[in-house]
Amino acid sequence: MTLFSELGLADPLLKALEAEGYTTPTPIQEQSIPHLLEGRDMLGLAQTGTGKTASFALPILQRLDQIKQRAMPKSTRVLVLTPTRELAVQVGQSFKTYGCHYRLRHALVFGGVGMVPQIKTMAGGVDILVATPGRLLDLMNQGAIRLDSVEVLVLDEADRMLDMGFILPIRKIVAAMPKSRQTVLFSATMPDSIVGLANSVLHTPVRVEVTPAATTVEKIDQKVMFVDRENKRTLLTEMFACKTVERALIFTRTKHGANRVSELLEKAGIPSDAIHGNKSQGARQKALADFKDGRIRALVATDIAARGIDVDGITHVINFELPNEPESYVHRIGRTARAGASGIAISLCDADEVSYLRDIEKTIRQAVPVDFEHAFHAPHIMSRGAGGKPKPPVRHQRSPQPLDTYPQQARGGKPHGDHAGKPRDAGKPSGRPAGQQTRSGNTGFKGASSSGNRSARG
Ligand code: AMP
Repeated sequence: MTLFSELGLADPLLKALEAEGYTTPTPIQEQSIPHLLEGRDMLGLAQTGTGKTASFALPILQRLDQIKQRAMPKSTRVLVLTPTRELAVQVGQSFKTYGCHYRLRHALVFGGVGMVPQIKTMAGGVDILVATPGRLLDLMNQGAIRLDSVEVLVLDEADRMLDMGFILPIRKIVAAMPKSRQTVLFSATMPDSIVGLANSVLHTPVRVEVTPAATTVEKIDQKVMFVDRENKRTLLTEMFACKTVERALIFTRTKHGANRVSELLEKAGIPSDAIHGNKSQGARQKALADFKDGRIRALVATDIAARGIDVDGITHVINFELPNEPESYVHRIGRTARAGASGIAISLCDADEVSYLRDIEKTIRQAVPVDFEHAFHAPHIMSRGAGGKPKPPVRHQRSPQPLDTYPQQARGGKPHGDHAGKPRDAGKPSGRPAGQQTRSGNTGFKGASSSGNRSARG
């Protein structure tokens, strides 16, 4: 096992890592840090939760300290671009944490807050600027920021930046920088647009890949609950009867949906809040702080707002609604099982969402185990194929790519689901088209299923 001390990092960084309790680099850190310390460009395929922030922050901090140079007024030596303000704040915090023994100046630049303080901070120049593309471009256009002395550029979560329509701002920002610089691009996925961007901004990069399937996803105890839409709300509130649901991040597809779910939980006496793009920056920061400090038990979020949420100890990710993009599912569930930990991800799937579930299963190359035990299990939904068409009930029906074709080693050799042995439902009445089934005691929601609500199913 490699230790941080073997990667060539300087003592002040090792001290900071020790204070955080980190001794062993994550795979992305182990693979990236030596190359980045050499000054190479890098294409990193990794999602949040893999430790990717430290993988670029540590070598950058070391470089800034080694090549001592004062930043020019209105300039920065390092620029990190992120898709959202939340991620910007968290990346900024990581630089602060890991760089606590260096005297370096940081700044954050993102929209939704006043420009004047940002302009003032930038006036004297900084060592590290973490910014979202839109606001950065605004400040560049006003002459408040110049990028002609940037030494290192990081494009973090580049796929999400492109999804959010930032390609033009990014191109303008890159065009304002010196050509000789170190560039690092991180992306969780590799669509053609990212390949194009990577080809144009990176110079003979090393490629480092930590696939979600082999890292985060396998550590997460996933399950799907088939449920009629009208029962989702009751099922959700019942989940919170179980004390193991200490800190749950709940996803909805829309902002209004997020508000409604948060109100529902509040009414049921479960402290919660919602976080989405319609909320002010202050309200979002407060919701996040309350969630981190345990003042609320549930945070309801949309996909975009949740980008960059980095809260340790999320016990459950609950997909109140399934995302229509499979990659979002991977991002969502990666919020639990942060580096090293394990977590539970539950998806509520109604009749209209079966095709989303099948797409997700293809992407993660696993069948999501089905929870049959909950009070609202809807077998008629489960028997629908992709496209929402009812399928004839088939016993022991296999999902598109069953778990047993998924490398054992990548899953830590842990037996998983029915493929680890005899299907649990063998010998049970037919009509349950079992694909995958959760292991007994695996749901964490026995309370919900035994709470006398079966009659609610009618
Ligand atoms: P990231 O993927 O950068 O969002 O990091 C995910 C989480 O893992 C953050 O909470 C980090 O503080 C934490 N982390 C990063 N590196 C390590 C490490 N080597 N050991 C344990 N936790 C880590």
